[in-house]
Amino acid sequence: MVYQIVNPYTNQVEKVYDNHTDDDVEKTLAKAHDLYQQWRKDTILKRVDILKQVSQVLTDHVDEIATAITKDMGKRFVEAKGEVLTSADIANYYAEHAYEFTGTKTFDSRMGKAQLVPRPIGIIMAVEPWNFPIYQLMRVFAPNYLLGNPMVYKHASNTPGSAVIFEEMLKKAGVEEGACTNLFVSYEQVNQIIADPRVQGVALTGSERAGSEIAAEAGKNLKRSSLELGGSDPFIVLDDANLDEIQKIIGAARLFNAGQVCTSSKRFIVTEKNYQGILDMLTEAFANVKIGDPFDDSTTLAPLSSYKAKKNLVKQVEKAIENGATLAYGDMASNQGEDSFFRPVILTNITQDNPAYYEEFFGPVGQVYQVKDEQAAIDLANDSVYGLSGVLFTGSVEKGEALAKQIETGSVHVNSYGGTLAELPFGGVKRSGYGRELGSLGMETFMHQELIVSR
Ligand code: NAP
Repeated sequence: MVYQIVNPYTNQVEKVYDNHTDDDVEKTLAKAHDLYQQWRKDTILKRVDILKQVSQVLTDHVDEIATAITKDMGKRFVEAKGEVLTSADIANYYAEHAYEFTGTKTFDSRMGKAQLVPRPIGIIMAVEPWNFPIYQLMRVFAPNYLLGNPMVYKHASNTPGSAVIFEEMLKKAGVEEGACTNLFVSYEQVNQIIADPRVQGVALTGSERAGSEIAAEAGKNLKRSSLELGGSDPFIVLDDANLDEIQKIIGAARLFNAGQVCTSSKRFIVTEKNYQGILDMLTEAFANVKIGDPFDDSTTLAPLSSYKAKKNLVKQVEKAIENGATLAYGDMASNQGEDSFFRPVILTNITQDNPAYYEEFFGPVGQVYQVKDEQAAIDLANDSVYGLSGVLFTGSVEKGEALAKQIETGSVHVNSYGGTLAELPFGGVKRSGYGRELGSLGMETFMHQELIVSR
């Protein structure tokens, strides 16, 4: 396991980091556990103030943090800045709602006055991916810090710069030593941490493979887990949809973060009337991208996170075509170079016997499907191993809301391409995982509600 910055724009190794030893891990867990024991007896007052300060520090250092993100995993600098500000907003959101989310609920029971008292459970291990390297950490840190669960984290091996700067920024904001610690560790060490009795939960955002491995370790050790995994989200366009609105967002729905978003729209499912119009619109959006240096403001499509990620995506698209998909837009010859850029492509005629039908394409690849009516659109949306998010465009909000309930997924946005907000719970069903981050539900994932009955 090598933690190193390989700048995806240049493919140059910029920095290699030392791994943490077992002794480092032990010291970290001991410190975090001491803090947990102290926090259990304290009020949350001080942490609310510090969390507000975290939000301020991130805002004040937005350029510096965004630079680390862009160097690590190549996203456009402007998007990296947006990620940092969203993360600042998450810290602020939990601080603002601190008392509401940690308040005791009292009710009468036949045995006397009953109280449900929100309590922390212990140290939480977070294992996080590279695609939103600051935001992913914040989604776990903010609610757990407020609650009193210290966090240790293993970040993706290609985003060590972000891993380090996150810890530095928390320190600047006054977060206590031991409250949130970066560990450059191996998978084996992650398993040892999960098994440690001082650790009471593990949060993973990543692939299905990692999800099943981490969940197995958590299960073996009877630890709580939450899994935020992949998605192949539908973008459904019905006959009565407002195409002008769709035109404004269709490119970003697939290409934001160079298409490497778990909740990107990956399958465009369109009823007959609008099929050609949507295909043309997506083609135009893809054809108009400007590939280049992610630090250059005029660049609209950044490289993928690594050359390896690009090669894997090329192979996946080639396999889809070999299995009968039509390359409706794009030129795979232009994707053979030794850079990390993937020029966008559109695939159509993907049948159920094509492996691509069930796979997640983590990059600028749009799948477009034509369906005969609304029911067929819902059926196709549900014919997926995933269920993370989804988008549905229709002229009738009522109809959109009713159809949304028929989609097996963690969330649906009717008539908008959603994105993420601190107050909106995030998570999936089926092979997209379980548990929720963000919003009030994000507070409950590693919360213990202690029952006290008295008379
Ligand atoms: P990945 O390979 O699963 O890596 C994610 C993290 O897990 C990395 O830190 C990785 O470390 C670590 N890891 C992998 N296997 C592990 C194991 N057996 N033990 C301990 N740690 C392990 O995921 P990825 O391919 O980089 O990320 C993209 C995936 O994440 C996509 O499927 C995407 O849809 C999903 N995602 C989901 C959400 C969501 O909220 N639902 C958000 C973003 C991304 P190394 O880097 O060292 O291998």
